[in-house]
Amino acid sequence: MVFQCKNCGGTSIFDPDRQKMYCPYCASEDSESIVPEKDISNCPACGAPVQIGTHTSAGKCTSCGNYIVFDERVTGDYEPHLILPFKFGKKAALDKLREEFGKRAFAPSDFLAESALNHVEGLYVPFFMYDYHSDYDWAGRAVKIRKWRSGDTEYTETKTFRLERDISVDFERIPVDASDAMDDKTMDLLEPYDYKALEEFKAKYMSGFFGEKYNKPAAELEPRAHAKAENDSEEILKSTMPGYTSIIPERRNLILMPKKTHYALLPVWIYSYFYRGKMYQFHVNGQSGKLIGKMPISVGKAWGYTATVFGGVAIIASLLVRILGMF
Ligand SMILES: [Zn+2]
Ligand SMILES: [Zn+2]
Repeated sequence: MVFQCKNCGGTSIFDPDRQKMYCPYCASEDSESIVPEKDISNCPACGAPVQIGTHTSAGKCTSCGNYIVFDERVTGDYEPHLILPFKFGKKAALDKLREEFGKRAFAPSDFLAESALNHVEGLYVPFFMYDYHSDYDWAGRAVKIRKWRSGDTEYTETKTFRLERDISVDFERIPVDASDAMDDKTMDLLEPYDYKALEEFKAKYMSGFFGEKYNKPAAELEPRAHAKAENDSEEILKSTMPGYTSIIPERRNLILMPKKTHYALLPVWIYSYFYRGKMYQFHVNGQSGKLIGKMPISVGKAWGYTATVFGGVAIIASLLVRILGMF
């Protein structure tokens, strides 16, 4: 489909700055009407044949330059539940690139040239988001050792604790990148996205951008979210027992119950730059404006989703104190 402007016949696009549909030809707002495609291999605007990738759900006609959203890639099984519409606009993304790399000595002279920057495109990346409820029933022993010296005598104090935990956690929207082309590490670096801004899917938000449908079904990608939830359940458990010298588990029952799976699209600006036969890619988070480039960046330990811990953490600690004098 294309979103044709009723006033001039041009294609309306979703404008992140206005947060509205906008016709760049006649400056009309919210003037679009949907022209569906007859078949996926022809542009609904000009009729020219279009070549699209296996997973492409939105793109640009190379003949007329209009943005197309491919009906059959955003409906039925491929209809996303949620979309995070672009908030950070193209101009802001370009300014970000200029500002960040403008003064760098390594940047080739045409790196920030207008003609090169025309290749900045917005892409909606497919994600699955998984909800889980976890119950962690855990028991074990913990030891705390303290050493000190008094005169010629060295003392060691060993305290042994019996610990029990019963922790319930609701994990919401653990994200898994459902695009093979989009590097997982890059997506991790682009986090966090504020999921509160997710909206019910509407195809018009894709007009003006590129898009991909999920490459693999949700069930196939689920083990990755499952592993994350398990890992974070362990982390949450550990955070409830700080300060011990060693911890010896005796009972571990972690039950992870899958709840809901959401199919969502997240916005990314991409700038591909060819230099001496190599392609460099720069990404800007289409919501926050965070930029990821070729420089080394450490991944912060940020969870892009919420983990609500509730229920009391039952701590039953029986204490044995032994003071051993060592000569
Ligand atoms: Zn118009
Ligand atoms: Zn066309």
